[in-house]
Amino acid sequence: MVNAQLVPRGIRDKRVLDAMRFVPRHQFVDSALAARAYQDCALPIGCGQTISQPYMVARMTELLELQGHERVLEIGTGCGYQTAVLSRLCRRVYSIERIEALHQRARANLRRARHANVMLKCGDGLQGWEEYAPFDAIIVTAGGFASDLWLQQLKAGGVLLLPEGAEGSHRLVRRRKHAHIIAEEYFDACTFVPLLKGVNYR
Ligand code: SAH
Repeated sequence: MVNAQLVPRGIRDKRVLDAMRFVPRHQFVDSALAARAYQDCALPIGCGQTISQPYMVARMTELLELQGHERVLEIGTGCGYQTAVLSRLCRRVYSIERIEALHQRARANLRRARHANVMLKCGDGLQGWEEYAPFDAIIVTAGGFASDLWLQQLKAGGVLLLPEGAEGSHRLVRRRKHAHIIAEEYFDACTFVPLLKGVNYR
């Protein structure tokens, strides 16, 4: 996966490549899909949601430019795969999922993979996670429009990364919070499952 998909498409950060080599992606999908876990595509994880394509996980992680000391907030835990990759690269990951069943599954997946520096919560990520703010970075793994609370819960110099846009057509945007301005950069066009309000306890 790393040599065939990530390196040829320009993922260069060695720490990101190493983390992607280390985390067993097949353990984060249903056993019936395990044989397809390393394919160049997103896969269903239940509840109408998907685990992102390997390249997209690597690309988003690389754009965060993590050094190792950061506290990162992730919106959209899903199956916990991106969470696991992040946890190899920063001090602590705080991850929020709005679907209770997926939140529970991610908890089991991350426990099995022994990722200890991760805190999970079932809740509405649009609210951020005030209790643990401010964060060095916030990564959103569902597509939509940014909540104002995210920039508020970021440290000065911190970055917010999200697939932004109306449903079905998103673009990765990275906003860096400086003292008086927000610097904005646009990257890959992409398609994510939608960022939705509220919590789903089904
Ligand atoms: N990073 C995940 C991707 C999962 S897809 C992985 O590697 O598996 C995106 C997830 O975002 C879905 O599980 C969806 O339920 C969740 N989501 C959407 N809107 C949300 C919100 N407001 N708060 C928290 N999670 C949300």
